[in-house]
Amino acid sequence: MSAVFAVDLGASFLRMGMVDDDERVTRHTRLPTPATPADCAKVIWAAWRAAGRPKLVAIAAAPLCDRTGRVLRWPNRPDYEGQPIVPGEWAGRAFLLDDGHAAALAAHRRSASADEITVSLQIGTGIGAGAVVGGQLLLGRSASAMAIGHLKVPSAAGLACSCGATGCLQAAASGRAFRRQLGEEHNPRFDIFAMPRAAAGPILDRAADAVAEALAVVVKLIDPHRLVIGGSLGLSPFFELCTARYVADIGEVVPVRHPAGPHAPLVGAARAAREVTT
Ligand SMILES: [Zn+2]
Repeated sequence: MSAVFAVDLGASFLRMGMVDDDERVTRHTRLPTPATPADCAKVIWAAWRAAGRPKLVAIAAAPLCDRTGRVLRWPNRPDYEGQPIVPGEWAGRAFLLDDGHAAALAAHRRSASADEITVSLQIGTGIGAGAVVGGQLLLGRSASAMAIGHLKVPSAAGLACSCGATGCLQAAASGRAFRRQLGEEHNPRFDIFAMPRAAAGPILDRAADAVAEALAVVVKLIDPHRLVIGGSLGLSPFFELCTARYVADIGEVVPVRHPAGPHAPLVGAARAAREVTT
């Protein structure tokens, strides 16, 4: 089968690349997420043309979208809400799924047994997550299952979340949460690990506690065979902070870094697109 042109639309970065049958990513590009949905659709369209107009196209998107690629809800980028992110010329041909779900698919071993369960947590500007159960993505009634970022956890108590609630995991443990707590919302080069330890340390400690609390709930609830953490923060030294606090009971799974690294949503979106066309 031919390679898939895959797109990973996050709140901070737009990634694109070609994913081949062996799930290798080539022609990878990463740029800041365009200011407007129209610009975003234009950039995607231009990259697709430059790649030779591949037949298979797939989009892993952080926002909740309808089937046509129109953004229904995106608290981290409200300026995108109500607008399409898919180029008009792709109507009916682009396969679109949640980026957390895509990363879960990418983490699920292709040789997994039928009963194997994989859970994936992506920690970046926001938090995405997904689960593969019985070889299928767990979608839920509104295709938004595994919204772990909005689980209420003790260590996030009192912190305001972009969803309007307080106490969500994402309100303590995400790039947006770190920026807000450190007053760095408008610094394009923000890196919490470059901040003075006195300022960043307590915020990172609280965030890692929050992640460990959420993982404990998910593991008790689903009892997965595989638990992976990815995303820009999930792949950073923040991973070690979280796993140091997560105490697995005997026989329970321990988290590992996502095997597809930063390409996880691209790889998962491509796999999903192939599965619906075969
Ligand atoms: Zn929330």
